[in-house]
Amino acid sequence: MEVPFLQLGELNKKHNAEISERIKEILESGWYLMGNQLSQFEREWASYCGTTHAMGVASGLDALILIFEAYKTLGILSNGDEVIVPANTFIASIMAIEKAGLKPILVEPNPISFNLDPSNLNESINKKTKAILAVHLYGQLAPMDALQVIARENNLLLIEDAAQAHGAMINNKKAGTLSDAAAFSFYPGKNLGAFGDAGAITTKNSELAKIVQSLRNYGSTEKYHHEHLGFNSRMDEIQAAVLSVKLSSLDSETETRRQQSLRYRNEINSTKIQLPSVIENEESHAWHLFVIRSQQRNELQNYLSKNGIQTLIHYPIPPHQQQGFPTLHHLSLPITEKIHSQVLSLPLNSNLSEAQISHIIKTINRF
Ligand SMILES: *Cc1c(COP(=O)(O)O)cnc(C)c1O
Repeated sequence: MEVPFLQLGELNKKHNAEISERIKEILESGWYLMGNQLSQFEREWASYCGTTHAMGVASGLDALILIFEAYKTLGILSNGDEVIVPANTFIASIMAIEKAGLKPILVEPNPISFNLDPSNLNESINKKTKAILAVHLYGQLAPMDALQVIARENNLLLIEDAAQAHGAMINNKKAGTLSDAAAFSFYPGKNLGAFGDAGAITTKNSELAKIVQSLRNYGSTEKYHHEHLGFNSRMDEIQAAVLSVKLSSLDSETETRRQQSLRYRNEINSTKIQLPSVIENEESHAWHLFVIRSQQRNELQNYLSKNGIQTLIHYPIPPHQQQGFPTLHHLSLPITEKIHSQVLSLPLNSNLSEAQISHIIKTINRF
């Protein structure tokens, strides 16, 4: 039995008719950027998250950069300020900090949750520290309550990288509302994915929202008036329409991911494998990825591949060892390095049949 990791075309099929209708509207209107589709999706995304402002931008990376740049415009951040970030995140979190002229301070994650560990942040906080970038890695919310306390006590901004956590929720509050500002990615493979690149920023801060709206569009909110040195980072009308249509099934897709993750967690019993843990409750994990750990990770991956099961590694090289980040090469981060050598992501999406999930479970248990 063949089990591909993810087949986006198959996954999107059920939306194609409705999306075609919406794209036809765009073709007929002749309006491709900053139009009704974007404003509609922004209203829907703000409402879905339970916040006041959502701004569509060109990607998740840009969403992060624009948050930092907007705080610089407001005079709250300046070049060289330090930003705490988990060392085991996807490279975009760290790249955004650097691109905005700030300094990433990589901290070791909690090895069980893969997220920031509030108990080891104090040693990284000094008078240059101005922000914490919490990443909800693999879809599980970072410990936002504890991080909010640390941020308040030390007068730091708290920002969410929610690129993997669409709809993850704690105490009825969703990712994107648990901090000063949050960045989302709608990269095609994310839990809510466009037909190309797209991202969004959410915040309850109207002043910040206004600056982001300007920065993403050449520093302009009135045509040919440029109040800021801005960027060109807009979500186009077609992506906004695609996301608006797909948003209607996000919650049911997430529910399917949760059910599949429960099967994996209940039925995988190999002693050579460490299963992922849910730290708070089921709602607090959007299961972007189902990531197991094994000391024999590479052998396991080959073995699964021979049995028709495609797996991926998120991520094979830790950010501080990447060629493009020579200033981080001196760091020694044993927890992060170990995680990167052991993680393996299993297929998890609504295309998978129960039989395919059973095949994966049985095959792993025979490893
Ligand atoms: C995908 C991702 C991003 C970047 O999003 P893009 O839309 O690809 O630019 C940022 N942070 C994390 C944690 C991600 O997974």
